[in-house]
Amino acid sequence: MTGNDPHLVVFTGAGLSAESGLLTFRGGDGLWEGHHIDQVCNQLTWKRNAAAVHRFYNDRRAAAARAEPNRAHRLLAAWQDRYHCTLITQNVDDLLERAGAWNVLHVHGRLTRMRCEACGSAWEIGANPWDPETGRCPKCASRRAVRPDVIFFHERAPLYPQMWRVLADLRPRDVLVVIGTDGAVIPIGQIAEEAPCRTVLNVLSPVPPDRWQPGMIRPDRFTRALLRPAAEAAEELDQIVSDLMRDAA
Ligand SMILES: [Zn+2]
Repeated sequence: MTGNDPHLVVFTGAGLSAESGLLTFRGGDGLWEGHHIDQVCNQLTWKRNAAAVHRFYNDRRAAAARAEPNRAHRLLAAWQDRYHCTLITQNVDDLLERAGAWNVLHVHGRLTRMRCEACGSAWEIGANPWDPETGRCPKCASRRAVRPDVIFFHERAPLYPQMWRVLADLRPRDVLVVIGTDGAVIPIGQIAEEAPCRTVLNVLSPVPPDRWQPGMIRPDRFTRALLRPAAEAAEELDQIVSDLMRDAA
């Protein structure tokens, strides 16, 4: 691969991991153990609700550890070996890494890491639960400032600038693949429509017209669109991308 190779940029969301059994909590009733989701991942209030916050993320970390990467995770990992390829994900699970991907831009953070708001250090805890009573920051020994290294509501996402640069640098020979997201959080629908390159979409279904908002995906605006589960679509997706990347070479 050289600097002249076309760039394959893959942007993924919850739909990628849904078939591994990890459902997005946004899709549910908005409640977890009687708490509003907003109370367990909110930058403005998390310290007040720290015990629930840690229980919530301990549960999610355990669920992710029990889940297995699916065919779509493995396909994306293979693309990273085959092409000049950047993987961007909104998912906080580590299924792409466990499928063999080695360089994933986790723009909303990672479940397997903790972070200390007091000193800024971050560290891996793998699949282990965090005990907020006994756990301490390994660097500054703070207890109350330690939190999951994921982006809460009302919080700045430090990797967004890097993500915007990758998306803004797309050129006509490049390929943008969007999988398993409707564009509600990051307006990837609009970005894909304005990108000067070929675009491929794989989602379960289009956003219904009464829910559609600016920035969200519109399947007919993509070069190719596959409307079915990601793992099921993997083989055809691979064929489409390999044709588009070969045309560009
Ligand atoms: Zn610290």
